[in-house]
Amino acid sequence: DKASIGVTGLAVMGRNLARNLARHGHTVALHNRSEQRTRDLVERFGAEGTFVPTYSARDFVAALERPRKLVIMVKAGAPTDAVIEEFAPLLDEGDIIVDAGNAHFADTRRREAELRDRGLHFVGTGVSGGEEGALHGPSIMPGGSPESYDTLGPLLEDIAAKVDGTPCCAHIGPDGAGHFVKMVHNGIEYADMQLIAESFDLLRGALGLEPARIAEVFRTWNTGRLESYLIEITAEVLAHTDAATGTPFVDVVADQAEQKGTGRWTVQVGLDLGVPITGIAEATFARSLSGHTELRSAARGLAGPTRAPLTGAAAERFADDVEQALYASKVVAYAQGFNQIQAGSAEFGWDIDLGAVAAIWRGGCIIRARFLDDIRAAFRAEPDLPTLLTSGEFRGAVEDAQDAWRSVLSTAVRLGIPTPGFSTALAYYDALRAERLPAALVQGQRDYFGAHTYRRVDREGTFHTEWATEGRPEQLA
Ligand code: NDP
Repeated sequence: DKASIGVTGLAVMGRNLARNLARHGHTVALHNRSEQRTRDLVERFGAEGTFVPTYSARDFVAALERPRKLVIMVKAGAPTDAVIEEFAPLLDEGDIIVDAGNAHFADTRRREAELRDRGLHFVGTGVSGGEEGALHGPSIMPGGSPESYDTLGPLLEDIAAKVDGTPCCAHIGPDGAGHFVKMVHNGIEYADMQLIAESFDLLRGALGLEPARIAEVFRTWNTGRLESYLIEITAEVLAHTDAATGTPFVDVVADQAEQKGTGRWTVQVGLDLGVPITGIAEATFARSLSGHTELRSAARGLAGPTRAPLTGAAAERFADDVEQALYASKVVAYAQGFNQIQAGSAEFGWDIDLGAVAAIWRGGCIIRARFLDDIRAAFRAEPDLPTLLTSGEFRGAVEDAQDAWRSVLSTAVRLGIPTPGFSTALAYYDALRAERLPAALVQGQRDYFGAHTYRRVDREGTFHTEWATEGRPEQLA
């Protein structure tokens, strides 16, 4: 019997995807560059379903029923191109190559166009949820042709996470749309993690709470509107004690955050598209700053305020205030991320359904959260919503939270606790709602030194002031 799907690249992600497919009753052809991983999988997990191990590209392709569906799960970048070049010549018109690795969407667009010319479908697919998700149900974000989704979609929906019986998998849009959305997902993940980390730092710095006590605060938050995988695991991490030293685990970890680069991609693309994703950018820079040990040790002695922790009513209120600040900042970060998806969709003609994106992020992925249900509802009610901040539900919640949000930030500033994520979120909120921005002055400066011209609030046209002679505006057009 032929396999309904094949997986090549059987490291942790590919192996678990293959097992997930087999556990759902699909016959799965297996292939990996080095044979050992294939043998390993069959030896250890062969009983979980029907696997067809193969040890050459030709045998792998021959094992697949047509149209062939083969999933590539290798190290992203040049290896993906190498694997495509190995298999594409062996395939027939209408076959489907799925790249489930973390490719940059621009690479996916290039590969899709090339393979389309050769009569093949190429489906760049975002997969989120790490190795556990791959095995038990990830959130799956496939791009590529709608036609390829007709054949491939049911298999992916089978193995995806389910929320209220709905699979966390949907066709996102043509060519690179799936990988683009996965990229923004990771960017939002950076922002969310940073905001949670700042909340911890605030609770510790302003109240002097121990990590185990802060874990309890997070557990309480996790029963409310902030309920999410990231809050849940944060409580676990904070409650964890280092066995070797008996001190809180978080205190023995070096405080330099690393990154694999998807956050950086999100920021770079945000700049290219002109979308102010300030929350994701600050989170990415915060990781970068933490790693600059030479800068940090040079600056360590710089003066700061005396830190007298909060007392009395202010202390009692503080954890609740931080919850509100975290919620409001999170709404901003997600609003920005969804704006980036809107911008990408417009730029590349993807016609992405934002409600569907929120729906498939509700389960399986790292940012899964109760909150995404509300985001889904907001875009269902108003598909062209300019920003989540003005949707019925979020508008009220953020307005209610703003006093606490401002209060937390003033405490942070007073005590010298760095809150780049919270700060940029509030600045964004205040800038968006402002009647007038000092951008008018920036335009004046630009016109002064570079004759860059400006528009006026009271008249149509483009204007330039002859700054050297007098301040009289002359209409140019
Ligand atoms: P790795 O990224 O570590 O990649 C290892 C796999 O790639 C092995 O199967 C390896 O084969 C294969 N490989 C590397 N170079 C080549 C090449 N030139 N030709 C053929 N095969 C090659 O594996 P992961 O399982 O961690 O991740 C797989 C993909 O999934 C990556 O794109 C990753 O970004 C993405 N991803 C990972 C997540 C995670 O949590 N780890 C989450 C979501 C996506 P060999 O055994 O022969 O060395």
